[in-house]
Amino acid sequence: MSRSRPVVAIDGPAGAGKSTVTRRVAEELGYLLLGTGALYRAVALSARRAGLHWGDGVGVGAHAERLVESGELTVARGPTGEQRVFLGVEEVTALLGDQSVGQGASEVSTHPAVRAALLEVQRRVGAMGGIVAEGRDVGTVVFPDAEAKFFLTASLAVRAERRYRELLGQGIAGDLAAIQQEVEERDRRDRERAVAPLRRADDAMKIDSSTLSAEEVVALIVEHVRQIARELEAK
Ligand code: C5P
Repeated sequence: MSRSRPVVAIDGPAGAGKSTVTRRVAEELGYLLLGTGALYRAVALSARRAGLHWGDGVGVGAHAERLVESGELTVARGPTGEQRVFLGVEEVTALLGDQSVGQGASEVSTHPAVRAALLEVQRRVGAMGGIVAEGRDVGTVVFPDAEAKFFLTASLAVRAERRYRELLGQGIAGDLAAIQQEVEERDRRDRERAVAPLRRADDAMKIDSSTLSAEEVVALIVEHVRQIARELEAK
């Protein structure tokens, strides 16, 4: 598909800094932001409310399909471009950061029917370009034709430490060793699932953020995307 503005895909494991970097890149470029993890989180939340077990692939799959087909699960923009997620008329954005909802997202995202249902939503949002989308399979499955792809990583120790600090910032004193174990477990599930596993797209630029600041990563990505955007415009 030819677009006048690029789709920017940023994938990588938990704790690599994707959400911070994606938000700033979208701001600098004036592009739309799409955090795909929030959609999996919303499915997990809604499934739990419906009394379903996250491991129930058939039940949760049908639930996700219904959420999408009925238009109950929607994504909207706040005044500063931030992503807001709704289940019907209820805004659930603030509930999605919860640790247990994240755990549920990690589980429900392994079900093929859930992934298929959410694929539609993501493609609808991004089809026109001018978007920075962040997740695990954005550059490989959702937008394999994205013009700019990045794979953001960091060492396991650094990612666990970031998560630990993030929780501290929310007033939660976590256990670093337990957090590292949880991050590792999530990685394993993301990498080993049969459908859309976490992997670097062949044409994605790999960035290891272990020793880079968020500003440095943002600058690197923005410069690269601007170059690609200029080339698109010149076509
Ligand atoms: O990135 P975030 O922590 O919000 O994602 C929650 C979970 O959703 C991840 O642990 C991952 O298993 C899943 N996910 C996914 N594919 C995506 C985005 C998130 O499987 N594109």
